[in-house]
Amino acid sequence: MLLARTVPELRAAVEAARAAGKAVGLVPTMGCLHEGHLSLVDLARSRAAFTVVSIFVNPTQFGPKEDFARYPRPFEEDCRLCAARGVDVVFAPGADFYAADASTWVEETAVSQGLCGEHRPGHFRGVATVVLKLLNAARADVAVFGRKDLQQLAVIRRLVRDLDVPVEILEAPTARDSDGLAMSSRNRYLSPAERAAALVIPAALAAAASLARAGERDPAKVLAAARARLAAEPGLRLQYLELVDADTLRPAPAAEPGRAVLAVAAFAGATRLIDNLAL
Ligand code: AMP
Repeated sequence: MLLARTVPELRAAVEAARAAGKAVGLVPTMGCLHEGHLSLVDLARSRAAFTVVSIFVNPTQFGPKEDFARYPRPFEEDCRLCAARGVDVVFAPGADFYAADASTWVEETAVSQGLCGEHRPGHFRGVATVVLKLLNAARADVAVFGRKDLQQLAVIRRLVRDLDVPVEILEAPTARDSDGLAMSSRNRYLSPAERAAALVIPAALAAAASLARAGERDPAKVLAAARARLAAEPGLRLQYLELVDADTLRPAPAAEPGRAVLAVAAFAGATRLIDNLAL
């Protein structure tokens, strides 16, 4: 496995693979890899003979009071995991991935509104900008993203469509620990008590989804079922809970299985967690 630190190094490796007739798959990450990330690698490898994992804690998607400085960076362990999973290149640029006087931004203005976009101003501008940079740097044929970051996925699909980026976006289902908690690099921050509280998030989503499966179509009632579970856990502070249309991310007019998705963000202690579940 090659470790590329600069765009020219990455390009040289990718161009050699292309010349050998290989399709290129990209898995963008911020590192601190877990089995969820590695499931994205597996999906990339099933569709492309040459796989690049980028590891870059992107400063432009963090707010001034967020955890950029303390975001976990177990880089050697990440490289070991990538090598064991058959990754061809880890692309880990330095801060100079952005020119010191970078002045160009990618801003999606519809699906990035509401949900996380409302609570993390500038976040999706940072995400869209870095993802376009990574797609261009790797000249990827396919790129894989997790459904766990529902709104991020929607933003990237729009970006690719609206700017004619020549890449196919693949989505991977949310990987969960055996207790139901969606895997996240930030789960490392949780104390045992906070983790116990965090488990109420998937439980609340599942309770609401089973109500819809049983025939309930009123969004207010489905949301109330989830909200009651979340409110009963004093260790959680809810940021948002919404039932949204899977494509537009606008409030869903009905709790329609196959169309509507429950999306939640909540704090367990100081750690912000997100999750979602399609009805
Ligand atoms: P991150 O390193 O958090 O920026 O995530 C990198 C990619 O991994 C994104 O496409 C995420 O949606 C995806 N991802 C993170 N956690 C999970 C998970 N539990 N299941 C599936 N994909 C995930």
